[in-house]
Amino acid sequence: MSEMKSESSNFIQKIIDNDNKVGIYDNRVHTRFPPEPNGYLHIGHAKSICLNYSLAVNNKGTFNLRFDDTNPVKEDDKYIRAIVEDIKWLCPEWSGEMFYASNYFDTMYESAEELIEKGLAYVDDLTADEMREYRGTLTEPGKESPFRERSVEENIEIFRNMKKGEYEDGKKALRAKIDMASPNLNMRDPVIYRMLRAHHHNTGDKWCIYPMYDFAHPIQDAIEGITHSVCTLEFEDHRPLYDWVLANLDKFKVQSPKQIEFAKLFLTKTMMGKRYLKQLVDEDLVDGWDDPRMPTISGYRKRGYTSESIRKFCDDIGVSKSQSVVDIAMLEHSIREDLRMKAPRTMAVLDPLKLVITNYPEGKVEYLDADMNPENPEMGKRSIPFSREIYVEREDFMEVPPKKFFRLFPGNEVRLRHAYFVKCNEVIKDENGEVIELRCTYDPKTKSGSGFNERKVKGTLHWVSADYTLDAEVRLYDYMMEDEDFDKTNFLEKLNPMSKVTLENCKIEANMSEASIGDRFQFLRHGYFIIDKNAEEGNKLVFNRIVSLKSSWKK
Ligand code: ATP
Ligand code: MG
Repeated sequence: MSEMKSESSNFIQKIIDNDNKVGIYDNRVHTRFPPEPNGYLHIGHAKSICLNYSLAVNNKGTFNLRFDDTNPVKEDDKYIRAIVEDIKWLCPEWSGEMFYASNYFDTMYESAEELIEKGLAYVDDLTADEMREYRGTLTEPGKESPFRERSVEENIEIFRNMKKGEYEDGKKALRAKIDMASPNLNMRDPVIYRMLRAHHHNTGDKWCIYPMYDFAHPIQDAIEGITHSVCTLEFEDHRPLYDWVLANLDKFKVQSPKQIEFAKLFLTKTMMGKRYLKQLVDEDLVDGWDDPRMPTISGYRKRGYTSESIRKFCDDIGVSKSQSVVDIAMLEHSIREDLRMKAPRTMAVLDPLKLVITNYPEGKVEYLDADMNPENPEMGKRSIPFSREIYVEREDFMEVPPKKFFRLFPGNEVRLRHAYFVKCNEVIKDENGEVIELRCTYDPKTKSGSGFNERKVKGTLHWVSADYTLDAEVRLYDYMMEDEDFDKTNFLEKLNPMSKVTLENCKIEANMSEASIGDRFQFLRHGYFIIDKNAEEGNKLVFNRIVSLKSSWKK
């Protein structure tokens, strides 16, 4: 991807540079992204995709998307489709080629037999609970299983019977024979194959034994010729096992890939982790995986984020070896910066209050000039109809204003953006005492752009003409979590109850009737918005707020 910023400064690139210098991979760089198809991708995965993709592109190498589909119990085709859609969106130049770990099941099986032949794996009859007991702890060595010294012939025979399905699920397992006293628990004879009858989305019912991640993953990498197998920090202690597997398999021990770990991305005010996001979906606490409040790639897409802004964010936060939490304000900054020049400005009144200009002729309409985007003059101009009745924002009026309130109140004069000064003379209320209309007068001399400077006003209001307006529904999204004090044990109670506020009676400029789903705008003072549904599907346009204009949504 040509526009992707160089990752030349990150520590992984330094490892690659060094590998190139000593020539272990003949200057090849081949990375991969290996999602388990058991949920939708989130922004953490985006980080990993961007990192692996740009390492490949910046080094004229290759990037594989490989589904790590070795655990049929939790996997589903719908996740595969969603993941592909997300990656296409995030990396439009990705080749689209897909790899599946399950296509290598035969090689994995042969590799397991190779380890048995070499006396490096054995079938164990201990139950999972017993194995756990025998495993020892961080301070105590483990105990060897009574089945550890089975002969090669016996192991091969039982393993083949496992493959034929002669035992019940959970009854027998193949273990690597490494060291039950190793200080690294992962090296204490880890299970590498287990009995499991489960239908697999790709291989169907062919297999009733499935390989474990730590055994399968290095083999997948090696088969594809991966050079730099980038993963997250929790796998650091698994690296000796990764290396052990490849070092003991004849066809993979030369030029075997190297595992490199980096810190996972976490965001403030955001719960991360597929299983927790799945819980939100399953318990109907959000409107699906692509709910705009979700930190999923599909959620950000629906929210209106651009793929450029997400890639830029992933690039800007860099790659690190130490765990930290990134301020969500950085992600918001990235989308604001992206839309600042691209999104046309428009006025929308989210909570309308009618304002009648009593000295403006009835039936008259005047078209006022405004920039599409003052920061980007190339976008040209638009014209905004102005008439006797307009809508302003309810919160821009106060009958009894506090100090420093510069917007409308009885007797005060303000500027209507792109139009005239108006002064509030009268307040009309309904029988409950609620303000339903303001009566104002305008001063024709004060037309915007006329150079009028006899007097100044402090407040500027956005507005729409009541005669030239469309109804819209606007959804204001806020952070998923109420504060920073949450974790996997309590996040359900800590969800922000105001994370989605739907405003159903908004008024927008009438020229928006020509806009399409996916179009983005800046609503003056309210932030950036995207059209989620257009008027044909329902009776109103529906907008999602992408991001507010300032870094905190709370005033
Ligand atoms: P989760 O914790 O959300 O379930 P996972 O690691 O189990 O994530 P996988 O599908 O197994 O999800 O991960 C695919 C790749 O994405 C892995 O290489 C993993 O390390 C990486 N990854 C997962 N979460 C993050 C994150 N928060 N930041 C960066 N990379 C991540
Ligand atoms: Mg996982």
